Amino acid sequence: MREAEQYDVIIIGSGMGGLTVASILTQLKGKRVLLLEQHYVAGGFTHTFKREKGYKWDVGIHYVGDLEEGHVFRRLFEFVTQGGVRWKKMPYIFDKFVFPDFTFEAPSDKNAFQQKVKDMFPEEAKAIDQYFVDVERADNWYRKHIIYKHLPKALKAFAKPSSKAEKLATTATKDYLDAHIKSQKLKGLLCSQWGNYGAVPGQSSFANHAMVVRHFYNGGYYPVGSSKTILDAIQPIIESTGGKIKINHRVDQVLIEDGKAVGVQGHQKKGKDLIPFEYRAPIIVSCAGAYNTYCKLLPNHIAPELSQDLEKHPDGLTHLCLYIGFKESPEKLGFKGENHWIFDEYDHDYMFADLDAVAEDRMKMAFLSFPSLKDPEAKAHTGEIITFISYEIFEKWKNERWKKRGEDYDDFKAMLSERMLEFIEQKYPGFKDLVDFMELSTPLTTEHFTMHKKGYIYGMHTTPDRLLKPWNHVRTPVKNLYLTGTDAAVLGVAGAFTGGVFTSIDIMGGSKSLLSYMALENASKKYSKQLKANGISTVIE
Ligand SMILES: Cc1cc2nc3c(=O)[nH]c(=O)nc-3n(C[C@H](O)[C@H](O)[C@H](O)COP(=O)(O)OP(=O)(O)OC[C@H]3O[C@@H](n4cnc5c(N)ncnc54)[C@H](O)[C@@H]3O)c2cc1C
Repeated sequence: MREAEQYDVIIIGSGMGGLTVASILTQLKGKRVLLLEQHYVAGGFTHTFKREKGYKWDVGIHYVGDLEEGHVFRRLFEFVTQGGVRWKKMPYIFDKFVFPDFTFEAPSDKNAFQQKVKDMFPEEAKAIDQYFVDVERADNWYRKHIIYKHLPKALKAFAKPSSKAEKLATTATKDYLDAHIKSQKLKGLLCSQWGNYGAVPGQSSFANHAMVVRHFYNGGYYPVGSSKTILDAIQPIIESTGGKIKINHRVDQVLIEDGKAVGVQGHQKKGKDLIPFEYRAPIIVSCAGAYNTYCKLLPNHIAPELSQDLEKHPDGLTHLCLYIGFKESPEKLGFKGENHWIFDEYDHDYMFADLDAVAEDRMKMAFLSFPSLKDPEAKAHTGEIITFISYEIFEKWKNERWKKRGEDYDDFKAMLSERMLEFIEQKYPGFKDLVDFMELSTPLTTEHFTMHKKGYIYGMHTTPDRLLKPWNHVRTPVKNLYLTGTDAAVLGVAGAFTGGVFTSIDIMGGSKSLLSYMALENASKKYSKQLKANGISTVIE
């Protein structure tokens, strides 16, 4: 008989990556997994929160792509969640790119998208066709690169991705566009979704840009019943072998003995008390992000090159999110569930350089989204306005407690909220009249709830060289310690999930990781057939 608190695997953090690892290792290897989460709600950026009158919001999912029939991401996701998450396809026009003199309505069809752009800019038709070819080349390189770097040494020689494609993929998005496209307006349009990959064209790699553009070639999908259904689907799988998710459990350090990771120590928050804990297991996985793992959870001498590099890495994206409850449906103003990317200029780098513009009353960009219009099960109407801002502007309040940061902080937030609302009101008159409830999150909120440095949205900044960094890997220099989630792979929910898949394969397979990959492929294909045979579809078109 095993003792109740004896585990095979300990996972630090219950984000998409950690949940994925827990599910795969439980299902394929019968492992008993302990997930330790410092927040009082599990799920990381896939958790939701509620307020009065049934208002409910997701903190980190507005839409996910690549969920069409036959896509490998859909198949693997169905397996990991055992079909427990249903997705609603967004309207055919799933994104609107709103500029002062035109609005581009993005269709859920790559060819229609490409044609629409060419119709608008016929003089650049050749460059536009080349751009779409290059998006696929850069994205293909990225996929191959991730597989390549996780292959056992013996197989690497046969699978090296092309260096020409690497040059394209690691070029800055802005450099690519400047070299191929003349119109500033067209460049602005093509980069409208930069907020999805966390870095403006001058700071991002073309591969990151390409990955996001291609991810949404067939439009976007939203989890029916909100993103919380991801945790709801995976938790019973973890518990089926005696595994557990423990909330309010913050890990303070990974225990190393004889050069191997053997456990974790931390403290549990129980009311006002902090109760120390220690758990031991043969495998430790961190979903707490590369920075936290190497710079906070491991002693300094363990991986000094990695922690020094992470300390020097440029800051990631930080944001404000205004969560709104509406008196009546925003459909009244013509919204149908699409997202709106709103910009007052075409040059994203120029706008971003004025990062604290909203605090100075010259806000120039926002993302507007309506979870309740995407979710057929929503009980009350909700919206979100996001804009970007520096962490530093909030730094003076960083040591204050959540909800008790003082009147000056509350006043500052109220002023920012009003400006964000007014910005949207200018674009869509009548918007303010619909608002019943609002609450603003700042980078301090995100830092508090996720422990990501400065409240970064997407983990370590997606600079062109991030793809090639040694810490952007599931394996760590410490035996039996693995990284997962966004920083181990790619950003976004699908990216963190990919991190989870690669971490699981590495843990299961070691040098025989191809066999583990095949085991996952076979199990997910079998499960997919079962769903089909039972006439079940996880996607509502
Ligand atoms: C506003 C916003 C909008 C977004 N929109 C989208 C979108 O529309 N589509 C999309 O695909 N992606 C979106 N994302 C990104 C996406 O949500 C994330 O990239 C992804 O969910 C990150 O998953 P992860 O596995 O890396 O871990 P995270 O979700 O970052 O979870 C890490 C967890 O570890 C916990 N933790 C950290 N340190 C410790 C510790 N020491 N002890 C215990 N626990 C710890 C944290 O509390 C957290 O729960 C958005 C993100 C944000 C912030």
